[in-house]
Amino acid sequence: MPMVSVKDAVKKFLIGGNSLTALGGVSVEVEAGEFLAIAGPSGSGKSTLLNLIGCIEKPDSGRIVVDGEDVSTPSLDALASIRARKIGYIFQTFNLLSSLTVSENIEYPLFLVGLPGRERQTRVQRLLKEVGLERFARHRPRELSGGQRQRVAIARALAGSPAIVLADEPTANLDHDTGVEIISLMKNLNEKMKTTFIFSTHDPKIISTAKRTINLSYGVILPPS
Ligand code: ADP
Repeated sequence: MPMVSVKDAVKKFLIGGNSLTALGGVSVEVEAGEFLAIAGPSGSGKSTLLNLIGCIEKPDSGRIVVDGEDVSTPSLDALASIRARKIGYIFQTFNLLSSLTVSENIEYPLFLVGLPGRERQTRVQRLLKEVGLERFARHRPRELSGGQRQRVAIARALAGSPAIVLADEPTANLDHDTGVEIISLMKNLNEKMKTTFIFSTHDPKIISTAKRTINLSYGVILPPS
């Protein structure tokens, strides 16, 4: 069974009384342990597709199964609980909590799911090491570079041992070299931990580092070229 199965997903938004089709019938399967890029220009539906897989939004029609659970029909509350158990999210703007230290940012999702303190500490230490930030454990996000902040976000996304990590344009706010560095860190962690990674990008140089790419255009997947 694939880790993610999206079948005929349609998502429309109402803008000023007009219906805009963000996804017009998308089907894709992602195997466990894949490292997949969703490519396409701005507005092609990349975030919308990630948000459907990530249990943030529901499709208007179609079926989405994530790690064996149908996530196209539950209530938004039920979806939030599935998301907390199965999904780690990485954002283009990092979205770290500025008043918390690096360690505390990574620990926060573990605190929310009620993991005991000692276990939280063990996991945080391991993740700090994985992303190369041991020396920055007590720093605040504002004291870090963009690349370092994204490393914290990667560690936070992995903290709860999710089935899938979704990264929405994770390199959009980084210079090219740092972007490539962040993607190769994600790829190393994907290989080491066997966690499924799906990331979106519109940067052709970043796309070439993915193991598989799907191309979105106006809300549909283009056939492989
Ligand atoms: P991408 O991530 O490729 O830039 P998006 O999935 O963000 O594309 O957007 C696809 C289309 O859907 C765009 O035209 C966008 O304006 C529209 N859209 C996305 N989210 C919303 C929303 N919450 N409300 C209204 N329109 C939206």
